[in-house]
Amino acid sequence: MTDSDSTDTYDLVILGAGSGGYACALRARQLELSVALVEEDKVGGTCLHRGCIPTKAWLHSAEVAEAAAHGATFGLRTSFEGVDLEALHGYKDKVVGQLYKGLQGLVKQSGAEVVPGRGRLVDASTVEVDGRRLTGRTVVLATGSHPRVLPGIELGPRVMTSDQALRLEEMPERVAVLGGGVIGVEFASIFAGLGCEVTVVEALDRLVAAEEPSMSKALERAFRKRGIAMRTGARVSGVEAEDAGATVRLEEGDPIEVDLVLVAVGRGPSSEGLGYEEAGVAMERGLVTTDERLRTSVDGVRAVGDLVPGLQLAHRGFAHGIFVAEDVAGLEPAPVRDAVIPRVTYSDPEIASVGLTAEQAGAAGHDVETVSYPLGGNGRSLIKATTGSITIVREKDGAVLGVHMVGAGVSELVGEAQLMVGWEAHPEEVASLVHAHPTQGEALGEAAMLAAGRPLHAHA
Ligand code: NAD
Repeated sequence: MTDSDSTDTYDLVILGAGSGGYACALRARQLELSVALVEEDKVGGTCLHRGCIPTKAWLHSAEVAEAAAHGATFGLRTSFEGVDLEALHGYKDKVVGQLYKGLQGLVKQSGAEVVPGRGRLVDASTVEVDGRRLTGRTVVLATGSHPRVLPGIELGPRVMTSDQALRLEEMPERVAVLGGGVIGVEFASIFAGLGCEVTVVEALDRLVAAEEPSMSKALERAFRKRGIAMRTGARVSGVEAEDAGATVRLEEGDPIEVDLVLVAVGRGPSSEGLGYEEAGVAMERGLVTTDERLRTSVDGVRAVGDLVPGLQLAHRGFAHGIFVAEDVAGLEPAPVRDAVIPRVTYSDPEIASVGLTAEQAGAAGHDVETVSYPLGGNGRSLIKATTGSITIVREKDGAVLGVHMVGAGVSELVGEAQLMVGWEAHPEEVASLVHAHPTQGEALGEAAMLAAGRPLHAHA
């Protein structure tokens, strides 16, 4: 094939087939744009193969293990006998495999051309893959992110990021999790649920520091109850690994002796060596800067997903991809706003939130009112033996600005919470909607009733 070969010219050349890239490809094909989707590994990217899906599968395994261990709470004689690591992998891999097969089918059916190999941006309209040049009227950068590793820490059989932990060959007894952000607390929940002794080390003074402070407090309380040790305000000074184990040294306090160290200190953009800077794409610390229509500094080049500064979430990637396809097709879609994107941490207990915290709303000049409804007053939550709360942040006499929830099962409530924030609902409007009894969703209705000044099942 040559540069002039028409089959190598597309409306869209998309670099990376993760959540952002493949969503862009599928939507673009629906809009009858021609698409080349370049991928060096597997269609589906981090989310499907090394992120959201496999980790949530293991979180479910951990939840089942916890339920077995605590059958007595529900009047049952059960116990947790231990992990069958091969079967644990098998379960996760089956879920991933099924979704992967489905996704490959979708992409094939769409008519997007998947180009295997490592692509490189050559100029505003050209991507080179293994010597083949693909020309795009628009080029979409969708190369995502990868786990960051702390300087001086070497990965190996005893020191891993989430990528390697999902291919674990031996079940550890003691685990140190470096970083108490989303990945850190999710893996802490997995390992603790599966019977390991877990210590979380977090440099800031609380876990999940991006969330509303009462969410962190509730999570820490629940972790303490589950026997998960936490060292907050603690910086790692080094990790020494040997055949038999590893030692985590902190700037202050006793070292931690473990079998496995999981490094979960954030994810960095995968943008190095891909020709972005050389092609003139403006970048900041490896991230690609864009305007709200996801246009980069180079005309005709867009960027989506984790490469773009902001929330690093698969569903933001999907939304970005869809947006770019529609924008290129001339549909004039509304830009994706991080402010109304829901955030879920699938630890046990879960944290789900959308919109502003009280502090952020105050700083943004809102006249803020906050109410908190405890899940202890919610029948379904009591049945499940979970505690937690739902906090609503509202403009005084105005719309809901943020919803913050903690407790087992709250991830499934975030849909209603995001409608409240996204549609700028007033608590009075939500309070007038009848919520099904007994559901956990009812607690969201009760929180809205409380915010509207007419609580039903709330103690003064
Ligand atoms: P994160 O930024 O959420 O958390 C990293 C944590 O590590 C921070 O709290 C930071 O203070 C801490 N840290 C950094 N250096 C440290 C050090 N030297 N010692 C101790 N602690 C240190 O990053 P993450 O948890 O790795 O996740 C990466 C990204 O992926 C995030 O943006 C996250 O939102 C996203 N993600 C989302 C989900 C989900 O939506 N459920 C799941 C996984 C990942």
